Amino acid sequence: MSPRCGVMTQRWGWQPTAWMQDGLPTWRWRAAPPGLLTRRQMREHGLAPGGAQPVAQIVCRGGRRRGLLYDPADLAPKRVATAAQLVALGRALAARRWCSACRRDVGYCIPTSLGECIECHYPTSSVRPNEPVRGAA
Ligand SMILES: [Zn+2]
Repeated sequence: MSPRCGVMTQRWGWQPTAWMQDGLPTWRWRAAPPGLLTRRQMREHGLAPGGAQPVAQIVCRGGRRRGLLYDPADLAPKRVATAAQLVALGRALAARRWCSACRRDVGYCIPTSLGECIECHYPTSSVRPNEPVRGAA
């Protein structure tokens, strides 16, 4: 009546040392097929479950400790922006630095309340009040 009678898995074929437990192919500690990750290994690789379901589990002698195993192919990188996201972000920031009045990248984010760069909005702001305005056209 041992449950350890082997399991036919879709992924790894016939597994004579595995059994089904809680709906998952289950191996003894260290007997699972290679290439699967425990949650701790997942974190060490910078991966997050991202909604992935465990594909197998391992139990130690006596079944007191259980470890769920995940397929790295199912896992998502841990909240790291992709290159495409960074490019999009860079474009968004560049758009916020673009003054449509003087048509240039002013190098800082233009206040949305002004809608144009500081120089365009306050043409004499860089000049002290007591100083005569030079080169004003
Ligand atoms: Zn401007």
